[in-house]
Amino acid sequence: MRSMKQSSASIHPPEPAPSGPRMPQGLLLLDGRLSEASPCAQRIDVLNPATGRLIATIPACTAADVDHAVMAAHRCFESQAWQSMRPLDRGRLLERLALLIEEHAEELAQLESLDSGKLLSVTRRVDIPFAIEALRYFAGWSSKIAGEYIALSPLVQDGASYRAYTERKPLGVVAGITPWNFPLGQAIQKLAPAIACGCTVVLKPSEETSLTTLRLGELIVEAGFPAGAVNIVTGFGHDAGAALVEHPLVRKISFTGSTATGQGIWAAAALTMKRVTLELGGKSPTIILADADLKRAVPGAAAAIFSNSGQICTAGSRLLIEAAVYDEVIAGVAEIARGLKLGAGGDPDAQIGPLISARQRERVAGLVRSGLDQGALALAGGDIVGKEGWFYKPTVLTNVSREMSVLREEIFGPVVCALRIDEPGQLVELANDTPYGLAASIWTRDLERAHLLAERIDVGTVWLNTHNVLDLAVPFGGRKLSGLGREFGSEAIHAYTESKAVCMRLDRGAMAGY
Ligand code: NAD
Repeated sequence: MRSMKQSSASIHPPEPAPSGPRMPQGLLLLDGRLSEASPCAQRIDVLNPATGRLIATIPACTAADVDHAVMAAHRCFESQAWQSMRPLDRGRLLERLALLIEEHAEELAQLESLDSGKLLSVTRRVDIPFAIEALRYFAGWSSKIAGEYIALSPLVQDGASYRAYTERKPLGVVAGITPWNFPLGQAIQKLAPAIACGCTVVLKPSEETSLTTLRLGELIVEAGFPAGAVNIVTGFGHDAGAALVEHPLVRKISFTGSTATGQGIWAAAALTMKRVTLELGGKSPTIILADADLKRAVPGAAAAIFSNSGQICTAGSRLLIEAAVYDEVIAGVAEIARGLKLGAGGDPDAQIGPLISARQRERVAGLVRSGLDQGALALAGGDIVGKEGWFYKPTVLTNVSREMSVLREEIFGPVVCALRIDEPGQLVELANDTPYGLAASIWTRDLERAHLLAERIDVGTVWLNTHNVLDLAVPFGGRKLSGLGREFGSEAIHAYTESKAVCMRLDRGAMAGY
């Protein structure tokens, strides 16, 4: 668990050595300025997940800091300057930020890797390019947001012509609350559509991984965003996060995180009738049919669960395999698991990094232990690694039964439970036998069966012969306990705007003489 300590200093880096990434100054972004938190804010230790050693401290913002940020966002939203800014110019702000991130891509990739334990190859190839592309994608949307023109059929037929138009109006101040697994990407995923739609923003990154979001604040100042358009506070969920959810001037919470936190946020947001987008947990099935191309399906199933050390909401954590290929698939996935090289994010040979924290590793280890105690078998892994850092062995469990918590709960670690499908009739029922409904993948050569099966899996996204392909143009979100609402694509624009209708009566007499 990350500890808190009293200090007024900004981020100080005892680690890494001078060759490491440039550290952000540790200042919040409030009303267009990089600022210290209020004097009573304590500090949160930031630890390197690969070593457990201190790399920085960040402010644990108080409700007063949050209020400062929200008031600045509110003033900006209400200002003439913001209200009258041309949509294309809001897009241009996002484009300028994209350029700055591109300029600092290597530094940001290193910082993200150090802070989160993610592989540097992944932050270079995925996290930072995703942030840049999301800014550009939504910059394009800023000038394409449109309402409708509707012919009316009034009950009173008085000879006049009735019609209406709708506008998509920005919601107002949006709070973006993000988790640890894709820190910069998630921050941009909230910020970019909100700004494109004309909202203003307060971001609160995870207390585990705030460094790239703080650095983002410095780049936002450099990009010349109007004061208050984007504000950044750091701190714990139960105080800084909760203060955002309770603040009456916040009109929307865009949250990504665990289901339990999302449920609490939805309940609290109801009091002020805030809009919410909730991107929550998952227990996604990877389904391998007997006719699948196993040369692709086996490494695909392994990547589905072991990428980012399993800390992906869409991780394929339940592996459902038809009986005819069950033995071959589990042997193949277990062999890959045993061969993966664990290491720090910056280690060029590492194929899988550490978990985010000691607490998270304890949770993963506890769930696996409970499964093993109840009769599950570990074909690979099943244990922690070494003394330094929070590594967990890539794990493949067989002999799992439906009531085991290791099969039912989201683990958020490199642990997959394999289940054999003995009868085709079991497949859909087993795939849907979970409170979650985020994603699934189906591996088969039979495309008819693939599409028809896809219809029956109760999730927000189904991948066919691939897994974890997220694209900014494709709506993303969950069903059941996996969340509410969609991000990406045109649905993201609807999530940050609301329609306003203007109805009019046009007296045909006005045309007399024409
Ligand atoms: P978390 O719920 O613990 O925290 C997420 C964020 O919420 C953090 O910033 C935290 O400070 C804040 N928070 C915590 N309590 C709060 C409160 N009471 N009020 C307001 N904010 C509060 O989640 P996490 O552990 O950081 O992330 C892992 C979870 O995120 C997993 O369950 C994973 O599946 C989920 N996730 C979902 C998606 C998706 O798109 N569906 C993507 C990534 C992660």
